[in-house]
Amino acid sequence: MTAQTSATKPAKAAPLSAVKGMNDLLPPDSARWEWLEDKVRHLMARFAYRNLRTPIVEPTALFVRGLGEVTDIVEKEMYSFEDRLNGEQLTLRPESTAGVVRAVVEHNMLYDGGKRLYYMGPMFRHERPQRGRYRQFHQIGAEALGFAGAEVDAELILMANALWQELGIKDVVLELNSLGQPQERAAHRAALIAYFEQHTDVMDEEAKRRLHSNPLRLLDTKNPAMQAMVEAAPKLIDFLGEASLAHFNAVRAILDACGVAYRINPRLVRGMDYYNLTVFEFVTQSLGSQGTICGGGRYDYLIEQMGGKPAPAVGWALGVERVLELLKEQGEQPPVPGPHVYAIVPDASALPLVHHTLQGLRAAGVSVQMHAGTGEGMGSMKSQFKKADGSGAALALIFGADELSRGEVVIKHLRDGAGAQENCPLSQVSARLQQLLGMAAV
Ligand code: ATP
Ligand code: MG
Repeated sequence: MTAQTSATKPAKAAPLSAVKGMNDLLPPDSARWEWLEDKVRHLMARFAYRNLRTPIVEPTALFVRGLGEVTDIVEKEMYSFEDRLNGEQLTLRPESTAGVVRAVVEHNMLYDGGKRLYYMGPMFRHERPQRGRYRQFHQIGAEALGFAGAEVDAELILMANALWQELGIKDVVLELNSLGQPQERAAHRAALIAYFEQHTDVMDEEAKRRLHSNPLRLLDTKNPAMQAMVEAAPKLIDFLGEASLAHFNAVRAILDACGVAYRINPRLVRGMDYYNLTVFEFVTQSLGSQGTICGGGRYDYLIEQMGGKPAPAVGWALGVERVLELLKEQGEQPPVPGPHVYAIVPDASALPLVHHTLQGLRAAGVSVQMHAGTGEGMGSMKSQFKKADGSGAALALIFGADELSRGEVVIKHLRDGAGAQENCPLSQVSARLQQLLGMAAV
């Protein structure tokens, strides 16, 4: 830091920008995020899921172990660094399931039975920023840990589906698949490798590199030249045993009974290694190539892999930016509420009384934006009314000196019946405003 003498002004510095791919969230958009978060909280409460908050920074080993070494995230997308004091390897979380599992194991949360949990927060992946793909983005996720039955897979899918309805999202399709159990995957994997080995002529370098380390991920390729080859590859569903098929069919039966449409996509594999049995994604055609708004599935072996007592689990995560972008694309922007009331104060000498009055209004649930002067004094009436109109408030409350001397204020309608106004005794202003605003009387 440079010392400055009191006589010199600090030199004008060049402004700094946010890190590429990481966005500020400004009003009025931030109000739409709050709207969505409120909807989620209420929905989670109705399904009896409880909030879990884990740190944004975790040991790097957590993700390497949890997500799998040969995954896009671990291979190239993590923000990892060394703690400068103790040399610990740390990573900004790229997703939250691994952290949730760590917390559940660390706090022995399953000691008295399964837990249903949800989280919201920022995630970090070093990807190429584009529409619907950022380096800091936000997920909302739900995890049910300690439950093995298909009814919980279905519950989670139904919950996501209910959220789309609540938010007014229409353009999404549910894609469903089963990844079976490890031994079934092993048999399928062997068949896949044998198949791919015959088709190396159409495979790109990355595919060839992953052919033996993670052949399943080749099914997920975005390379158009490989589509036809991948389309004809052996399908995992043909390798599923009786129990896996029964689980899959039980999920389907519940979705069918609840009228939830889905498309079975045998190529749906998901990006992390930890999944088994049910996997699913909600996808839309309306967001270009960033069309997956929510993905999840069962991960029955992760808890044990993270050092916990073996316990099954299932969950999903949605991308908040993509969900809001989809709403925008559909022309259904969530409302950005203004204040109920704008307080106009012609003379600064009334301010103590004004504040006292507004305190009572706010305590009664009325939202009030108070006019604030920008220089000397409070500003002209004209400029105050202009601000009041711009605020989106339904009503203005005018604290004029004459009215105040009679113990009254003026209530003026800014929108419905614009211009209409009435005098109101200060002692009754709270009740009258609540009446005008259609709020339940207190
Ligand atoms: P994609 O195939 O689009 O990269 P993913 O399989 O990597 O997605 P998940 O790890 O399953 O995504 O994360 C769940 C959800 O989080 C995604 O469906 C998506 O909506 C959102 N998401 C993932 N990565 C990003 C990102 N970089 N920017 C914005 N949202 C993202
Ligand atoms: Mg990705």
